[in-house]
Amino acid sequence: MQGLMQDYPLTLPPVFDRFERLYPDKHVVWSTVSERRRSTVAEWTDRARRIGGVLDLLAVPAEARVGTFAWNTADHLALYWAVPCTGRVLHTLNIRLFPEQLTYIVNHAEDDVVFVDRSLLGAFWQLFGDMSTVRHVVVMDDGAPTELPDDPRVHLLDDLVAEAPPVRFGVAGDENTAASICYTSGTTGNPKGVVYSHRSIYLHSLSALSAAGGIGMAERDRVLPVVPMFHANAWGWGHAPLFAGAELVLPGPQMQPERIAAMLEEERVTMTAGVPTIWTGMLPELDGRDLTALRMVLCGGSAVPRALSEGYRAKIGMPILHAWGMTETSPIGSINASVSAYDGLGEDEAADVRARQGIPPVGVDARIVEPGTLTELPWDDKATGELQVRGPWIAAAYFGVEPSTESFTEDGWLRTGDVGAIDRFGNIRLSDRTKDLVKSGGEWISSVELENHLMSHPAVAEAAVIGVPHPRWQERPLAAVVLKPDATATKEELVSYLEPRVAKWWLPDDVVFIDEVPKTSVGKFSKKDLRARFADHQLPDVTPGR
Ligand code: AMP
Repeated sequence: MQGLMQDYPLTLPPVFDRFERLYPDKHVVWSTVSERRRSTVAEWTDRARRIGGVLDLLAVPAEARVGTFAWNTADHLALYWAVPCTGRVLHTLNIRLFPEQLTYIVNHAEDDVVFVDRSLLGAFWQLFGDMSTVRHVVVMDDGAPTELPDDPRVHLLDDLVAEAPPVRFGVAGDENTAASICYTSGTTGNPKGVVYSHRSIYLHSLSALSAAGGIGMAERDRVLPVVPMFHANAWGWGHAPLFAGAELVLPGPQMQPERIAAMLEEERVTMTAGVPTIWTGMLPELDGRDLTALRMVLCGGSAVPRALSEGYRAKIGMPILHAWGMTETSPIGSINASVSAYDGLGEDEAADVRARQGIPPVGVDARIVEPGTLTELPWDDKATGELQVRGPWIAAAYFGVEPSTESFTEDGWLRTGDVGAIDRFGNIRLSDRTKDLVKSGGEWISSVELENHLMSHPAVAEAAVIGVPHPRWQERPLAAVVLKPDATATKEELVSYLEPRVAKWWLPDDVVFIDEVPKTSVGKFSKKDLRARFADHQLPDVTPGR
């Protein structure tokens, strides 16, 4: 049949308009460096439209990239909408990237304007000289007293907003118009840009974030994304609340565990999201707080240790909800949502199921393939291979990079670089990153599984396992362990703790005690730094027991 009948484009402006019309009396709450502020939705949407007007005042062309260098604040959220809803492209900059990576991505994306939080201006301004395309820097008030450089290219957002009229939102192009771009954290080589379109954001928000079987954000929710808005599209938490009609509570620069815990309690937050490091740090802050409003603690970005999830279950009566994703997957690729297939499991088995990465929502196709081939492996929870995904919010190329089969297969799937198995209910269980597996005598050892067991030991706060060279076995596992304050444990104790839990030949050849596991710019364990630190580590001369 000829002709498309329901071809109305999936773009963001109608979503914003609906939120503005239906919920004017709800609130957006955020912290500055010193206080908590709140706006009604009516005030916030008006400001977002005026920020659209500011882009016109600064003559930012259609499709130009608008950078942000900011905490999670109401203005940052306004930019999440004002930029794409006026036909420009939002480029969130990771405030913790190394300087050379930061200037690289600003120049690569050709950012025209950058909006910077005042407390971050000092760090940003040092690099400004190396940014070749940025015409204006717009400073957002976050309560910091930082002096402004005397430079005609630097403006205060509040001054510009006072001059700018609120603008109507609309997108000239179709639903495949670019809405935002985010660069991968780039553990090897240069960071790579992933472009999200209006359509991809729309579908990701509806299926991964709002559908009841998944994360299920709803109108009654008050959501606090601890995950930074500069990382991986804020895991969809910058967009989905407006689809749902939920209220947003934003921590701004106040990222200390006790400040976040206080905000969760005082603002009666119902859903929150962050990486495992955040929830590990928060665990001691939960005591004595009234968190009865909370119905979901979402966690991903790295494997959620079973012991951490169980710690939340013990303290607040609710385990962590585990999800998996990547910058390339918008980022939600799977969610460990409740499914009837697991009903009736005992406590222990249920905790094991919760430690899995979850089931791909509608819109994400997943497969496990034999490494180095495109041969699909069965979903029997045993066959282990590389996880590959595709779908309407999964990247099929990087911005400005020639397509290569290193990242995408010839038949159009994203190679995730993650290794795991899938059970017959579609639930993914990742065992490692391809690069982090320890290769011992031709067999693979999962560093993540060893870490999970170590982190369930009562004396252990954090544990990271890496492979170090071994003359006979090629590589053997080395465990780097951080003990809890005032706790003690010896290498022998930890190894005997692992003995009944893993195959004998998986046991680490050595255990080193360190003060802190090095972290990446988004708070994940940095195995790269750990490997560099222990590159010359001499393993004690033991023969692995195989
Ligand atoms: P990024 O693009 O920086 O968010 O990093 C994506 C990578 O983080 C994935 O390819 C995984 O290796 C890792 N990751 C994200 N979520 C999880 C999870 N739930 N379990 C294990 N690894 C994860």
